[in-house]
Amino acid sequence: MEQQDHCHYHPERPSVVNCQKMGYGLCQHCLEHDPQCAQPRQHCKFREQCVIFFRYKEARRQRARAGDMS
Ligand SMILES: [Zn+2]
Repeated sequence: MEQQDHCHYHPERPSVVNCQKMGYGLCQHCLEHDPQCAQPRQHCKFREQCVIFFRYKEARRQRARAGDMS
């Protein structure tokens, strides 16, 4: 298997992080604006060190906070 080093959503962009479980990458834009964990509810042994899940969690928290204020 070849290591994927391009964004899952933007094949023309290089990935800055990779989901180690699913093997897809995200570019800087996706990581900052719309980080998505492919299977957030399932156990993942890579989660503790996963940048995507960390950003995903942060984004969810921010959305929840924004919802509270409106
Ligand atoms: Zn992207």
